[in-house]
Amino acid sequence: MRKKIVAGNWKMNKTFTEADDLLFEIKEIISENPINGVELVVCPPAPFLELATDVAEEVDIHVGAQNVSSFSKGAYTGEISAEMLESIEVEYCIVGHSERRKFFGETNADVAKKVEQLLEFSITPIVCCGENLEEREAGNHFDVVRNHIEEGLFHLNEIEIQQVVIAYEPVWAIGTGKNATSEQAQEMHSYIRKLLLEKYGNEVAESISILYGGSCNAKNAFQLFANIDVDGGLIGGASLKAAEFIEIANSF
Ligand code: PEP
Repeated sequence: MRKKIVAGNWKMNKTFTEADDLLFEIKEIISENPINGVELVVCPPAPFLELATDVAEEVDIHVGAQNVSSFSKGAYTGEISAEMLESIEVEYCIVGHSERRKFFGETNADVAKKVEQLLEFSITPIVCCGENLEEREAGNHFDVVRNHIEEGLFHLNEIEIQQVVIAYEPVWAIGTGKNATSEQAQEMHSYIRKLLLEKYGNEVAESISILYGGSCNAKNAFQLFANIDVDGGLIGGASLKAAEFIEIANSF
């Protein structure tokens, strides 16, 4: 059975003290009320990853990075390698987020290389795909997502692809307060699963978690997660408040 996952993408938010406070609050809440059957992942900025991995030793949370280098090591100033992430017990890493595509020129080819780096160190890539508003309005959303998936992931073999988590994040829903409807999410998630089925077969397609991201919050999570092909969420803004983040994780 595929995993249910709720992952919090903190983006470039929080100072050291604020990050420490947020992690402490998450720890307090789930120590009293453990979350059942859902993998809770926090993805803080890189300087705070170790704070999070320390907390992960005490309570049942998992830690993800927000980015990784497409290179393995050496003279790449400012980059963080998959090996470095693994050495501090990071288990997940977001790849190909639309903000990285937009502001840092990350391409599907970069996504493909980053995924390979992560898999080499047994870190689970959370690979983002999704169309922008113009693409949806033009009716090109399926083509855009197919392109992200085919070019970012379809170089992987049957074993490797099963170590990946996919996040469908329509760009027009990210940080806008306008989430995809439950029907729009299910429609795209089942399309993604169909792509996986055509390439890798039904058993593999059924084993891969596909998360929804884009203005998902404690009010709409229940409806979104009720869909058969929605296995959880990648949460931005609403993951910055411990109580709401945990409420989202309890929305299955
Ligand atoms: C995100 O950036 O991954 C995201 C889903 O953001 P938000 O929840 O704030 O829309």
